[in-house]
Amino acid sequence: MRRVLNFIGGEFCPPASGKTLADVDPATGEVIAEIADSDREDVDAAVSAAARAFPSWRRTSAEERSKLLMRLADLVEENFDELASLESLDNGKPVSLARRIDVPRAVRNFRFFATAILHTETKCHPMDDGSLNYTLRQPLGVAGLISPWNLPLYLLTWKIAPAVASGNCCVAKPSELTPLTANRLAELAREAGIPPGVINIVHGRGAGAGRALTSHPEVPLISFTGGTQTGKDVMALAGPLFKKVSLELGGKNPNIVFGDADLEEAVAGSIPSSFANQGEICLCGSRIFVERTIYDEFLRRFLDRTKRLKVGDPQDPATDVGALISEAHLEKVSGYVALARQEGGEVLCGGGRPAGLPDRLRGGYYLEPAVISGLACSGRVMQEEIFGPVVTVTPFDSPEEAVAQANGSRYGLSASVWTRDLGKAHRVAAALESGTVWVNTWLTRDLRVPFGGMKDSGVGREGGFDSLDFFTEAKNVCVKL
Ligand code: NAD
Repeated sequence: MRRVLNFIGGEFCPPASGKTLADVDPATGEVIAEIADSDREDVDAAVSAAARAFPSWRRTSAEERSKLLMRLADLVEENFDELASLESLDNGKPVSLARRIDVPRAVRNFRFFATAILHTETKCHPMDDGSLNYTLRQPLGVAGLISPWNLPLYLLTWKIAPAVASGNCCVAKPSELTPLTANRLAELAREAGIPPGVINIVHGRGAGAGRALTSHPEVPLISFTGGTQTGKDVMALAGPLFKKVSLELGGKNPNIVFGDADLEEAVAGSIPSSFANQGEICLCGSRIFVERTIYDEFLRRFLDRTKRLKVGDPQDPATDVGALISEAHLEKVSGYVALARQEGGEVLCGGGRPAGLPDRLRGGYYLEPAVISGLACSGRVMQEEIFGPVVTVTPFDSPEEAVAQANGSRYGLSASVWTRDLGKAHRVAAALESGTVWVNTWLTRDLRVPFGGMKDSGVGREGGFDSLDFFTEAKNVCVKL
């Protein structure tokens, strides 16, 4: 049985309490690892190690920090197969997806920020009397980084890379449901020669290690990605301590298909935006709105493709949809399919357990992708984040109606718009209440752009120089001449 220990001050160590949690393989329901169930004492030790490493790390030249992070990126790449297979094992996602998205993105995260810090600029504000103001951007100290289970290594490195590249040390708390790639990353960080204490990883539950990190007085900054409800708790704990906080939260994203869209492209693009990673991506377009003129034809083609998705063994390279993260999550998602029927919706396909799974997968958490129509936009199924392979399809008659339906949600993370009319695309994009709008695409990511949510989808922006700004403090120096 694998043992996942904390990584503190460059050493692997068990939690002070000796308590552990079971890590379960979603594909089979079997326990695959025993992980540290850390609490305040462990977080204190990790924060102390990070604080001890900080004075030297902040003085380390940007060039040297860059070199070390590039080495770590190389090591992640050299261990590509192992990391992809670990991610699939731990999360239930198809290994093909981990190979296409998760691991390559982890490599890019390190390379992107390792090189970005070599190209920073700062501002100077000269005054009429000749005095000069210039802005220094300086690291804050110990960064607290909390990440979810859906894109474990991808999102963890999206935080670690900018935090340490800009001269902070960090204490990261990965999701207790997917600790394996974080644990491997700790080994690779040591191998890369990142000095002890610069990257610390504490495993455990949100209520224990997560809250201890959020409320730690020596951690001036929290970057959190996870659910909206958890985000409220993080804000409530961090607020009175005046921490810098970035919250990347949930979504209920609209996917709007206009009658003048390239229908085949819109259908093909709507399949991954609905079901990639079992629909467990915050950016998934779980509410599809289709202009009535093409509604029937869109639905026919979309259902046809959905029914052809191969649901099953995440480690099989041919699998399109793997296992949901846990039994509790499968119950929650299935509960929404039942609720959709109660709310008057029609389940056009899926929503049950796939037939014909091999014996080995009998204990796993599988759900056939579900497409639901006939629901009111105000009902719970169309308002609450389901975070599974479940989409709703709703007709609309005008761009104004599409925008009103899309914006009729407390979330505002991302949106997709499919149309050949460029003017309409711009107008609709400007009117949507979303941090990201994709036109004729989905999940096309440029790491330089601001990323984050409006409304209940979050506070702040990460990505590119927004991340480097977040992980540094601006200081104005005024020189009287
Ligand atoms: P979650 O909120 O349950 O947990 C996220 C992380 O926070 C985990 O590491 C967890 O242990 C920790 N945590 C839990 N309670 C905590 C607390 N009270 N204090 C501090 N830490 C705590 O979310 P999840 O179920 O792991 O992930 C799914 C959610 O994440 C979905 O809502 C999804 O939309 C969201 N998400 C958002 C983005 C984004 O970029 N906006 C990206 C991925 C996932």
